[in-house]
Amino acid sequence: MRYQLYIDGKFVPPRSSKWFDSYNPYTGEPWAEIPKGSCEDVDSAVRVAHKAFTQGPWASMTASQRGLLLYKLGDLIGRDARKLAEVEVRDNGKLIAEMQGQLNYIPQWYYYFGGLADKVQGAVVPLDKKGYFNFTRHEPLGVVAVITPWNSPLLLATWKLAPALAAGCTVVIKPSEFTSASTLEFAKLFEEAGFPEGVFNVVTGFGKDVGVPLVEHPLVKKISFTGSDETGRVINQLAAKQFKHVSLELGGKSANFVFDDANLDDAVNGAISGIFAATGQTCIAGSRLLLQQTIHDQFLDRLLTLARTARMGDPMRMETQVGPITTQPQYQKILGYIDVAKKDGAELVMGGTPSKRPECGNGWFIEPTIFANVTSHMRIAQEEVFGPVLSVIKFKNEDEAIAIANDSRFGLGSGVWTSDIGRAHRMAERIQAGTVWVNCYRAVSYMSPFGGYKDSGIGRENGIDAVREYLQTKSVWINTGAVTANPFVMR
Ligand code: ADP
Repeated sequence: MRYQLYIDGKFVPPRSSKWFDSYNPYTGEPWAEIPKGSCEDVDSAVRVAHKAFTQGPWASMTASQRGLLLYKLGDLIGRDARKLAEVEVRDNGKLIAEMQGQLNYIPQWYYYFGGLADKVQGAVVPLDKKGYFNFTRHEPLGVVAVITPWNSPLLLATWKLAPALAAGCTVVIKPSEFTSASTLEFAKLFEEAGFPEGVFNVVTGFGKDVGVPLVEHPLVKKISFTGSDETGRVINQLAAKQFKHVSLELGGKSANFVFDDANLDDAVNGAISGIFAATGQTCIAGSRLLLQQTIHDQFLDRLLTLARTARMGDPMRMETQVGPITTQPQYQKILGYIDVAKKDGAELVMGGTPSKRPECGNGWFIEPTIFANVTSHMRIAQEEVFGPVLSVIKFKNEDEAIAIANDSRFGLGSGVWTSDIGRAHRMAERIQAGTVWVNCYRAVSYMSPFGGYKDSGIGRENGIDAVREYLQTKSVWINTGAVTANPFVMR
């Protein structure tokens, strides 16, 4: 399957006339050819996006009409959910059970933000000065560069696209070089929904060839990025040179606390879903499991018992529970972290090796891995592994738990398992993280804000305020009779 770039409403070959392979992580074999974009492709995509923003049908459309287009897009995604989910699984190796659920859910973002498009209202400001009428307008920023990672390409793109388009912006998206196919399939739906040409454009390729020129292009006014904190830092620095707006959703090292008053059956499920769902390849992975010392040993036993039942294998099968690692470099990185943890003195109590199970074939599989007796100073407790590797840390009481959890440069998610409502509130207040789940884990919705504290990012996605990330506010003053008494003095 050979794909093309999507620019100005047309599928076009890359200027480089080069393609690169996209691999199926389950077979380790290439399955699609992805266009190798370059700065020339970026320039033409950004120019048409700018033209669509400033002239033509999109620019003159009412917000209600934009909203209807988003509705239509949501319907088409719902219609093609299965097909898109299969493309994602072939590209990133995540479970069909999860990707099908994601794709079925994605239309809700377009309905929610489509409905919000014509409810972005300015305010009449009740001024302290007589003789003026003052009001605000919320105007779209312009061309938005959307840069996405490989773990949930269409879901994470949607978190940006739906509010950006609702706001009236136009978009150039660069998906991850490892998982570009689904975004190019998705482009066909924009055409079918009837979006004007140039509103949505896809340039595939590598970070240095496409990502950097996109971030640096003077006509791009905002960068909305999900990915590693290293790349987020580079993008933030590049964007700062031109005072561009940024939303950065970066990594995490999320703490999942289990107190001795918790329902331990639920907590064991929650701990497993925090780290082994999606093979640990999510920014919100509950990769630090903090266990109160009074239940530590029995909880660890139960955790190991459940973790050992994980069915690994073909992600396209509904019954599979743990799939492959998406990319070969990531596979190597995870194995490297397992070595580091051992050297730092963490106790390997499960896994820690590539999977040799017959159902894993030639794919990039790593056994679900658990380290016990981890302490905060170890690298495995501080750095994001982005794989099926859990660090178990012991704590005595709430104060110690909070001190350990907040001793991290990240602050994305956190989980608290307790039956004490007071404790749940105390912990929710004291944890430095953008999301706190109490007696649940990994829940997200188009309605609820999502984002990071500290090095986990800047800005919030989802929820009503997400649309503000793509708007700027103008204050308009109308003189209704004020007299300029002294032109040399500010009033
Ligand atoms: P992940 O490990 O989740 O893929 P990365 O930060 O490596 O995270 O990549 C996320 C996205 O950022 C990918 O689309 C990648 O190609 C892109 N990218 C990588 N380097 C840069 C860069 N310097 N500027 C802009 N985008 C980049």
